[in-house]
Amino acid sequence: MTPAQQQLVDTIRDRLGDKSVVTDADDLAPWLTDWRGRWNGDAPAMLQPASTDEVAAMVELAAELGVPLVPQGGNTSMVGGATPPADGSAVILSTRRMNRIRSIDVASQSCVAEAGVILQTLHEAVEREGLRFPLTLGSRGSATIGGLTSTNAGGTQVLRFGPMRALVQGIEAVLPDGTIHHGLTGLKKDNRGSSIDQLLVAAEGTLGIITAVRLKLVPAIRSRAVAWLGVASPQAALDVLRALEAETGQVEGFEILPRESLEAALAQIPGLRRPLEGEHDWHVLVEAVAHDAADEEPEALLARLLAPLMERGSVEDATISNSDAQADAFWHIRDSLSEAEKKQFGPATQHDISVPVDDMPRFMGEAARAVEAAFPGTHASGFGHLGDGNVHFHVRAGSRGGSDWLAREGEAVTRFVHDLVVAAGGSISAEHGIGQMKRDELARLSPERVATLRALKAALDPKGLFNPGKLV
Ligand code: FAD
Repeated sequence: MTPAQQQLVDTIRDRLGDKSVVTDADDLAPWLTDWRGRWNGDAPAMLQPASTDEVAAMVELAAELGVPLVPQGGNTSMVGGATPPADGSAVILSTRRMNRIRSIDVASQSCVAEAGVILQTLHEAVEREGLRFPLTLGSRGSATIGGLTSTNAGGTQVLRFGPMRALVQGIEAVLPDGTIHHGLTGLKKDNRGSSIDQLLVAAEGTLGIITAVRLKLVPAIRSRAVAWLGVASPQAALDVLRALEAETGQVEGFEILPRESLEAALAQIPGLRRPLEGEHDWHVLVEAVAHDAADEEPEALLARLLAPLMERGSVEDATISNSDAQADAFWHIRDSLSEAEKKQFGPATQHDISVPVDDMPRFMGEAARAVEAAFPGTHASGFGHLGDGNVHFHVRAGSRGGSDWLAREGEAVTRFVHDLVVAAGGSISAEHGIGQMKRDELARLSPERVATLRALKAALDPKGLFNPGKLV
């Protein structure tokens, strides 16, 4: 521990008590490595504030002593965003003690949650009030409101409700000089210049430490149904989506997966059942919901809308869930894909990318062919949020394989895929953020954007003390 870090730790412990700092190596260990196990950082201490004032006091002191801080929520970042630098120069600031839901306002359908509230806890709390927070993802049991906001997380309901950015109505945060930004008023109209709240969304902890967020809620659902479809191609899947959207506003989720991903899941994950009897090159999962009495029953709605699509051949086969358990079983297949592919196919480069929605079918086909031609023996395909123009595009080692394939060729493959994405006007990070994983690639491909982000960073955090080495 450097003398400055020691002074920070001692002063905070003195002022705020033992619970406010962790220095025991065993207690620190789980927070030094990212969820994927790809980045190993080091930090001599983790600060654990219990209130916004405590965050402000810690930030002020750290700024005075020149100690960098790494904000951390559930540590589920997919891009090494919450992992401290390996040289031990920074201290982690964890929001896990800031886990209070301050208010749930049924009339205005909004709530205020502290940064360390876990997504699933929020889901359960608002559901008890007849409401719903319409954002969910595989890490909901660990991811926090602060982390989700700082990464502008997406998930499986973006199609209808947008990503985190669209659900954030205001933010309270501590800025790098210790100032508290108060943005929780929930004003519908507020044109006092650019939105500081929105500036903090997706900033990955580089501009401020979020302490609480006002979030939009929607009515709880009355019922839901999930359909599993077999289709010939991503274009056929997109045609189905457009046809459904033209008829109803009740569709919330629309996910696509190729045949080999389904086969991998069935082979590798115990307890999964094949949804359709026949063989199909592509599969689609559609979720429809009903909120109030005016909404059509989702099972009947899907049956009514899918029948003509099956008649004209856009949908080869379909089945609709008739219980929550069956709907969950369909989603379980979707949620298992990453794990199943890893077990079945071995190493792969994984790319969380987006292109304009209507261009995604073309992109998926052409990009897969281009990658396989440039790196013979590999196999490329995508699955995921087709309705958002966002797929997880994976390139598997195939016959070029071996456990060292990623180390040998991973970077070259990633650069190749990213170049294709940029040529298609897309984004190299659709929902996971930049963190440390994509920082150099962002600088290579979007120098003007990075220059602007760096100017903002320099203005708000001139000493570079908030989450060093991430995003910019
Ligand atoms: P952390 O991982 O702790 O931090 C993430 C970033 O936010 C870091 O840069 C950190 O410094 C910063 N940060 C954290 N808290 C604060 C704060 N209070 N103030 C300022 N900065 C802060 N993402 C999707 O978008 N869609 C998905 O479908 C999806 N699925 C996932 C499935 C799994 C199984 C996993 C493990 C992850 C998935 N993710 C997905 C990744 C997603 O980014 C994270 O789950 C989540 O957004 C991060 O929340 P967290 O609390 O774990 O934040």
